[in-house]
Amino acid sequence: MPANILNLPAYTVTNIEETEHDYHINAETKTTPQKCPHCYSDNLVGFGRNEQLVRDLPIHGKRIGIYVDTRRYQCRSCNKTFYERLPDVDGKRMMTSRLVTWLGKQSVKRPFSHLAEEIGISEMTVKNVFNDYINELERTVRFETPQWMGIDEIHIIKKPRCVVSNIENNTIVNVLRDRNKKTVADYLFRLKGRELVKCVAIDMWEPYKDAVREVMPQARIVVDKFHVVRLANECLEVVRKEIRGSLTDKQRRGLMHDRFILLKREANLQGLDLITLESWTKNYPALGAAYRAKEDFFAIYDALETQEAIGMFRRWEAGLHPDIKDAFYPLIRAVNNWMPEIMAYFDHPVTNAYTESLNNLIRVMNRLGRGYSFEALRAKILFTEGVCKIKKPKFQRPVQRAQEMEAFSYFSGMSRMGPSTNSSEREINYGADISTLVRMIEEGLL
Ligand SMILES: [Zn+2]
Repeated sequence: MPANILNLPAYTVTNIEETEHDYHINAETKTTPQKCPHCYSDNLVGFGRNEQLVRDLPIHGKRIGIYVDTRRYQCRSCNKTFYERLPDVDGKRMMTSRLVTWLGKQSVKRPFSHLAEEIGISEMTVKNVFNDYINELERTVRFETPQWMGIDEIHIIKKPRCVVSNIENNTIVNVLRDRNKKTVADYLFRLKGRELVKCVAIDMWEPYKDAVREVMPQARIVVDKFHVVRLANECLEVVRKEIRGSLTDKQRRGLMHDRFILLKREANLQGLDLITLESWTKNYPALGAAYRAKEDFFAIYDALETQEAIGMFRRWEAGLHPDIKDAFYPLIRAVNNWMPEIMAYFDHPVTNAYTESLNNLIRVMNRLGRGYSFEALRAKILFTEGVCKIKKPKFQRPVQRAQEMEAFSYFSGMSRMGPSTNSSEREINYGADISTLVRMIEEGLL
């Protein structure tokens, strides 16, 4: 009899055939059913056999097909027929349970098509296993609801999606399919502990504001400094491009590296940069005025409190050079439209660490994506093993299990310890750690 290379003790291997890519294994179960599954009678009689193909994990790099000679029975008490139950086989599909477990984890890491070929199944089957795996994770994994929440835009497969994060912990707690008000509001509405959210930092996207106000009226909405000063840079860019567009080639060469220098903060300009900027200002006064306006706008964020900042903004707006007013209009309009949320920053500043790590993530995001659906990418971000920031409960021997544990040997006892039921010792999962995600994407691990 061939050796049981399957390592499935419930089966007897009757034949093994090896081809270039595959193992074809014939097997049968070792035990026979004792009772009818319909009426529990033990009066059973054989009623034929049927070969069923069960897929399993690859062995030695070869795909596995197990042809199980499945027995059929008839119950003499109720006359119903049934097939014997196959041990270690998944209830939903003809695969071993260990293959389904492995495939679920792999489906988050690798394209479905690769896995389908490796196992010898259809891509649709891989997708179904993936869906079951993700649904199970959604049901069981609970990310801590952030008290300080960030809602931002991130491009995944050519569409703006909504990324929800925990600002204090630099983690991502969800990625939503789109950034419509309904999508965001539905998500927030179902969020456990949403009434405890204190602050929500958003970019200047009206639907976010509307959704938060409606579902979490207690939360203070803050527009991060980053989103506002970025607008100031964009206004400066408009002026720069306009001026460049009106120049001859020779004049344009005099504006080498202009974008780079103009976007720098004044305090970081050194030696040659300063002299260059001065000469540009002399030749193109509007460019000098735009640089000044950008710098003075940034300086508003040095204010110590809201009233001071509002005063600085009003003086800044009134003092704008007429030649650049049109170019800076989008910034003026944004600040006026979002005044309470922008000024809330002075009471509740968003940490630089968060802003930076999220921007890093946005920067590397386009490296992800080929061959994946949105659902798969979302799962990669949220559920890749080792990506979550978890706070373990304090190490403590649970009282109710201490005695039970004495009964086992040292080693077997360890593995029998179930999750503690004491809620004060609950493990806290803050979500996917953003810097870990960035690192894994950069190293090609995601
Ligand atoms: Zn029966």
